[in-house]
Amino acid sequence: MRVLRAAHLGMCFGVRDAIALALEHADAGPLTILGDLVHNPTVLSALEAKGIAVAQEVAHITTPTLMVTAHGTSERTLARTRALGLTVVEATCPLVRVAHRAVAALARQGCHVVIVGQRDHVEVRGLTGDLDRFDVVLEDDDVLALEEHPRFGVAAQTTQPVAKVRHIVDLIRRRFPQSEVRFLDTVCKPTKERQTAAIEMACQADVVIVVGGRSSNNTRELVKTCERYCTRVHHVQTDADVRQEWFDSANVVGLTAGTSTPDDVIDRVEARIRLCADASLE
Ligand code: SF4
Repeated sequence: MRVLRAAHLGMCFGVRDAIALALEHADAGPLTILGDLVHNPTVLSALEAKGIAVAQEVAHITTPTLMVTAHGTSERTLARTRALGLTVVEATCPLVRVAHRAVAALARQGCHVVIVGQRDHVEVRGLTGDLDRFDVVLEDDDVLALEEHPRFGVAAQTTQPVAKVRHIVDLIRRRFPQSEVRFLDTVCKPTKERQTAAIEMACQADVVIVVGGRSSNNTRELVKTCERYCTRVHHVQTDADVRQEWFDSANVVGLTAGTSTPDDVIDRVEARIRLCADASLE
């Protein structure tokens, strides 16, 4: 049995830099992260071990310093936290900032902003937090529920599959033929690379293993993408989730991982897959 790693997989530079910044500031004094820095339980327990607190609401923060995650936040939230006298450390990924600038530009151009993404995701809340009127769509039905506007401005959560985003933009154009629909592609490059590499890998694999947190959006999107090209796809958080019976009569096992999955977690999953393969030969 051969293990085929996707050409691009695992942690992106945005998440890596955010974790490094959190650890650096934790050494300097008590730190609270607003929301999950990354959606990966392994990384979150490592941060907890360093004494870093996590709060979902500004009101629950008890340290003088707070960190905004790689997913970013709105200017309104930043102003609120500063008004409380908190020092704010921003770990916002530069590619999330690009998305924020795109949304601001569309709003300035008089567009009704539509974000393709998950309504309750922290990044989407940040992208829409400075707007008074906007819509968030994820599925075809959400487009049917939109009201007409003379000018739409569409941008996406950075971790959405770009093919899906283009499909939604197309639907909006067809539903509102009289409206102008501007689209700024804000899906980030690491997400695009991981999606493309996952497809190439899944086309060649008998079984695919996707490694990442259960609540990680981009990991779940990788699972869905791989399922279109391979019938035996499994989502695992760590090597402990890997089951030997998944590999019965498999020649090629594909491996990919979400953008918040650390290298050592992927390596341990790969080692466990190889162990399972050896055991099935005995
Ligand atoms: S997934 Fe993309 S936007 Fe999000 S942190 Fe990584 S590089 Fe940045």
